[in-house]
Amino acid sequence: MKPLRIAEIFGPTIQGEGAVIGVPTVFVRAGGCDYRCTWCDSLHAVDSRFRHDWTAMTPSEVFAAVERLSGGVPLAVSLSGGNPAIQDFAPLIELGRAKGYSFVMETQGSIAQDWFSALSTLILSPKPPSSGETVDWARFDACIAAAQHRQTVMKIVVFDETDYAWARGVAAKYPHLPLYLQPGNHTPPPPEAEDAEIDMDGIMDRYEWLIDKTLGDRWYTPTILPQLHVLVWGNKRGV
Ligand code: SF4
Repeated sequence: MKPLRIAEIFGPTIQGEGAVIGVPTVFVRAGGCDYRCTWCDSLHAVDSRFRHDWTAMTPSEVFAAVERLSGGVPLAVSLSGGNPAIQDFAPLIELGRAKGYSFVMETQGSIAQDWFSALSTLILSPKPPSSGETVDWARFDACIAAAQHRQTVMKIVVFDETDYAWARGVAAKYPHLPLYLQPGNHTPPPPEAEDAEIDMDGIMDRYEWLIDKTLGDRWYTPTILPQLHVLVWGNKRGV
């Protein structure tokens, strides 16, 4: 089995965002991403500067770590990154599912893989204009198709009015996908990120603004959530 580039494996903790927020979860963070979002909060799993911190692990080694952390209890496993879709997670998912683990993955929707259909939940997180990236919608559609009707949801991070208007357009394009809106968090780049003081007032102000904006527009279909783990632990890694 081909080794996976792994930035970190940690947990159990709670899922801090989106469709499975609050659910006890073990995280497998893949190293490497095809995007470079201006406000990325996971640069340690993206930028090649941090490549020396990533570990080449076989799927069996990754699953052994997941089993050890979870004490053999088949929890949810979250595949995050970076963009986990640039690697082949099919063997890991197969190993885990055989023992009752379920797999949730978040990706921006730039690369489709056949193994998306083995996930329990696919969270597609198209990046809004403030990210500096541009979504290729044909590729995004290919990701939806690859999930083959597994639970697929969208999460959009909103930093400003432009992002908000963009999110409304995306929601109109994909009315069948449950949508989670999340206020953006301005995270400083690593290594400063972990120690940086969290601007909790700013985060709550942006959350309140997003709620007011969405409800004020009588746009009632999205679920509007903060990043729960940031509220509890700030920018600390591995929790
Ligand atoms: Fe970071 Fe996600 Fe953007 Fe990749 S897609 S650069 S992991 S925010």
